[in-house]
Amino acid sequence: MAATSFVSAVTRRLEGKVALITGGASGIGHCTAKVFTQHGAKVVIADIQDELGHSVCKTLGPSNCTFVHCDVINEEHIKNAVDKTVDTHGKMDIMFNNAGITDDNKARIIDNAKADFERILKVNITGVFLGMKHAARVMVPARSGCIISTASIASKIGGAASHAYCCSKHAVLGLTRNVAVELGQFGIRVNCVSPYAVATPLANKFVGLDGEDLEKAMGGIGNLKGVTLKAEDVANAALYLASDEAKYVSGHNLFIDGGYTILNSTFH
Ligand code: NAD
Repeated sequence: MAATSFVSAVTRRLEGKVALITGGASGIGHCTAKVFTQHGAKVVIADIQDELGHSVCKTLGPSNCTFVHCDVINEEHIKNAVDKTVDTHGKMDIMFNNAGITDDNKARIIDNAKADFERILKVNITGVFLGMKHAARVMVPARSGCIISTASIASKIGGAASHAYCCSKHAVLGLTRNVAVELGQFGIRVNCVSPYAVATPLANKFVGLDGEDLEKAMGGIGNLKGVTLKAEDVANAALYLASDEAKYVSGHNLFIDGGYTILNSTFH
């Protein structure tokens, strides 16, 4: 009997938990919504792609997943997404600040338009800041919670992405560390995940390829030969950080990169 309950606890690692996932209509966010619901969580997806978001929720089951329109740079939208999550489920245990954008990495610093630079910072930094702020608004009174944000290998190394993207992901790590220090006293854990390249629409924009060509390109440039990083690998890392198995893990940047970052930063 004891063995059975242990197994069920392990196989449904988010039973009874409630998660809000920004950027959950596509790519890593979509996959994380799937994995979280498979592990017993109720998920709310917040995204600007309404049709896609609704269709993801339909697939995952309307009792497991609901959609809310949310542009992460709009504070009212983020506030509303958090409030809707709490109104629907009575609480919010997990905030996954995952929405993010990139450019095509072609602009050199000398001709990088200020507006283009700031557009990326706004979504990737301000969006994460607002997500953390409004998650804290409900988690601090509850004296518990877990905030995870999607950074990137560009949170640590240069040359992997555009100036704006690299800068924005360094900032996600900075926010993670600072907010982890502040919220630890309330029992709230704050971490980020840093994936290497995953074939998603975002990567398609960056690399200029899609479909099998994109998968092939993504698989061919990693450090862990013969292994292709998939969105579910990132979702599983988020699952670990969201679960009670990570109850003492905070302020951490979890790389899902097959060792690429350490290879490229050991001598720095
Ligand atoms: P994706 O394009 O498949 O998904 C991103 C989602 O974010 C989309 O559904 C999009 O609609 C949503 N989004 C964009 N701007 C938004 C906004 N202002 N408000 C709300 N939602 C918004 O891309 P992905 O690869 O799954 O990216 C998810 C995260 O992973 C991003 O933060 C990205 O920077 C990060 N990341 C991706 C890779 C990769 O290679 N794919 C690698 C490292 C980090």
